[in-house]
Amino acid sequence: MPFAYYMPVRIVAGEDCVKKNAALLAPFGARALVVTGKSSAKNGALEDIAYALGRNGQTFAVYDKIEPNPSVASVKEGAALARSFGADFIVAAGGGSPMDAAKAVALCARQEVGDIFTHPIEGDVLPMVHIPTTAGTGSEVTPYSILTDDAGQTKRSISAPQLFPKLAFLDGKYMADLPQQVTVNTALDAISHAVEGMLSVRGGALTDALARESLRLLLGAYPALRLGKYTLQDRQTLLYGSTLAGMVIAATGTTPVHGMGYALTYFHGVPHGRANGLLLPAFLEACMQKIPARMQEVVAALGMDIPAFAHKVAVLLGRREAYNDKTLQDYAARAAKNRNVANCLAHFSEEDLLAVLRRSVGG
Ligand code: NAP
Ligand code: FE
Repeated sequence: MPFAYYMPVRIVAGEDCVKKNAALLAPFGARALVVTGKSSAKNGALEDIAYALGRNGQTFAVYDKIEPNPSVASVKEGAALARSFGADFIVAAGGGSPMDAAKAVALCARQEVGDIFTHPIEGDVLPMVHIPTTAGTGSEVTPYSILTDDAGQTKRSISAPQLFPKLAFLDGKYMADLPQQVTVNTALDAISHAVEGMLSVRGGALTDALARESLRLLLGAYPALRLGKYTLQDRQTLLYGSTLAGMVIAATGTTPVHGMGYALTYFHGVPHGRANGLLLPAFLEACMQKIPARMQEVVAALGMDIPAFAHKVAVLLGRREAYNDKTLQDYAARAAKNRNVANCLAHFSEEDLLAVLRRSVGG
């Protein structure tokens, strides 16, 4: 069973791991730029970062203007601050949006970047330390940064081995007050990553093992997700599960589920994880027809058949978005051009994608 796997991020997990492991930050340099959104000032992440950097005698500046579905404009602004401040490294704290934006900031701070989506990523970027405060994207262990591409009216990823952070701290305590909707959406994103990794042409024995364990943990937390009540242990479990799913897609990439979801996010503001949750069950039903043998392994990893899984997801989603058929035809045409369509073990034509969209969010 030949495979290759590369994931060069040092991971440290556990309660208060940032403060307890402050020394790990010392070698990164004297000056840090913290790239974040607004919530890290309230959930304890920024406080712990300040404590850890302070202990090492490191100084820092904060760029806290990263918005959900980050724009290239805020990336460039963050990079200008990194340069004027003379940052030696970046600490990213937040959900996927600040973590992804930080990777692009690290790139633009070190290289002259014109169009970020076509820029050839060669040479160094600023070293990064990532601290997730949602449990979903796995960005702390991936080489992807997903940004809003207004010219292309979509979300688009940049990717390079240099965009892996050097270090990730996993502490579920920052999620104590994470809103239920964000918790559910991000969990659906992580579940989608694990499942999509199993259906990727780049999947293999190791990513399958990671995906199975990720799904065991994430779906094991389903009772808490349904109730909306979480212990610290639940938070740690969801976070660990989402990091494992990130390790899966770091190697495999994603499939048409993510490809279709970008239009729902770009044109309607559907949160990224929710978009995947809306689309995943109908996508899996189609895969059942196309690649039944492989799907038996997915069913085994889910611990339930696809209708049972679809029901569980539907309960979490509540009322679905619905779009008219002309809109969905446009989204199918856009998704068909996305490179993650070809990344799937099953072939999905534009017609097939439209069928999934109709079943998921048809009007
Ligand atoms: P997010 O956009 O980072 O955050 C969603 C919301 O939750 C924001 O309003 C955020 O506020 C808030 N929030 C974050 N942590 C919180 C906490 N601990 N307590 C209270 N509120 C908190 O959402 P996300 O789902 O984590 O990330 C989505 C992004 O990641 C998308 O752009 C998606 O395309 C990308 N993504 C990347 C990868 C990858 O491999 N790199 C994979 C999948 C998805 P503030 O931001 O203001 O703090
Ligand atoms: Fe995702």
